[in-house]
Amino acid sequence: MTPSRPPLTIRLHAEDNVAVVANDGGLDAGTVLPEGIPGAGLTLLDKVPQGHKVALADIPEGGAVRRYGVTIGFALKALAAGSWVHERVLAIPEARSLEGLPMATVKPAPLPPLEGFTFEGFRNADGSVGTRNILAVTTTVQCVAGVVAQAVARIKAELLPQFPNVDDVVGLEHAYGCGVAIDAPDAAIPIRTLRHISLNPNFGGEVLVVSLGCEKLQPDRLLPPGSFPIADGRDAGAGPDTVCLQSPDHVGFQSMLDDIVARARPHLERLDARRRETIPASALVVGVQCGGSDAFSGFTANPAVGFAADLLVRAGATVMFSENTEVRDAVEQLTRRAATPEVAEAVVRELGWYDRYLERGRADRTANTTPGNKAGGLANIAEKAMGSIVKSGTAPIAHVLPPGEKLAPGQRGLVFAATPASDFICGTLQLAAGMNVHVFTTGRGTPYGLAACPVIKVATRTDLARRWHDLMDLDAGRIATGEATIEEAGWELFRLILDVASGRRTWAERWKLANALVLFNPAPVT
Ligand code: CA
Repeated sequence: MTPSRPPLTIRLHAEDNVAVVANDGGLDAGTVLPEGIPGAGLTLLDKVPQGHKVALADIPEGGAVRRYGVTIGFALKALAAGSWVHERVLAIPEARSLEGLPMATVKPAPLPPLEGFTFEGFRNADGSVGTRNILAVTTTVQCVAGVVAQAVARIKAELLPQFPNVDDVVGLEHAYGCGVAIDAPDAAIPIRTLRHISLNPNFGGEVLVVSLGCEKLQPDRLLPPGSFPIADGRDAGAGPDTVCLQSPDHVGFQSMLDDIVARARPHLERLDARRRETIPASALVVGVQCGGSDAFSGFTANPAVGFAADLLVRAGATVMFSENTEVRDAVEQLTRRAATPEVAEAVVRELGWYDRYLERGRADRTANTTPGNKAGGLANIAEKAMGSIVKSGTAPIAHVLPPGEKLAPGQRGLVFAATPASDFICGTLQLAAGMNVHVFTTGRGTPYGLAACPVIKVATRTDLARRWHDLMDLDAGRIATGEATIEEAGWELFRLILDVASGRRTWAERWKLANALVLFNPAPVT
């Protein structure tokens, strides 16, 4: 029998009238909160599960419930001090209008530069840097996916052992390419996403395309001449190196596979000739997101990620944060923190476009929260957003990237890459933006991974980190129990990012866990 820990509650802001119960298994009704923690002397009137909120004072019907110093909801009935405050007793506040926001009004003192940090990466011709050395096989359309899967398996079995400096071969399978309204304005998003993923820094500038032949998304529409580097010595005006399955040269299925395998060889030869070299940390492009969040996310893992984000920005690197519906309730913080009025306007433009996208489907931001979020103590999207946005740290927002767009050379610092919050879609769009390391926080737990980029998973609770000891790369739950500070966990993550960028494998890589690419297609299908 291990002795149970004394009751522990956590309050994040002096004005909050709720605190979160931190104990594994929650606290029973009748528990008296001891001295030295928020709510000391209070007797719990209900059983309060781990991660859930307890009222620290009597809250009248209609009264504001405050966490993070902001109103996360209004009481639907009177809540006595010591009672469990959950989603069913809270009404969500209205979303902040996108009119009249403070635009670039905060001028934070520049963060002091952080010098001398490096990693071992693969330098690309376009100036970007890979953290992995992978051959990607781009597909124009879902029709070729089965053939490409078999070709990739053959390349791995027959060729990859001859090229020990190449980490992997990955087929870029997706559901787009035909049966879609390809000239609809919003079709630009999935098309440019796929184009830019093919050019991700981890693919070394090698582009090999497999096309069916009759599809709407033709290879030179996907990758117009001039839009990508030609690494194979062909004319700069040539289209991508393409295997077309409907070509009359192919007689039978095996000839298609033979053709793809043969065409892969010169790409693998060039990738294999590369070596890791010492590169300043400023070449990192770190995408951050969360998935399967709980009430701990906002005061353990996400603040640690935010601290590491500031370290990265100070080192001259790029940090992308995303997830439109999870920043919508904090829009004022974003526009205020924008480096210039133009950046603030771009935040409003992207979130306004997303509001209208949701309205078209007769939904709004409240559609974001999941049953697991609520079971984990997150009452609604207003509460979830406040805990999500801290992943972005404190730096000014330097750039805004529309979905599927790629960072331009020289665009560095903190970037708001405006994407849906869906884990797979956000990860896919951050790959398109040029991400070379992904940091992912989770409280409920997800085995999420990507084939194209290492994913560092940060657990919000020690209980999860212990049970999923071979899936979680860092335990930020130690912040809740006082075993580590946010600063310590943030530095630990920063150093882990440098190690992983240099080739150390994450748990998801060791188990070869990879989710599908999921393109964001807001345009109609036909
Ligand atoms: Ca997410």
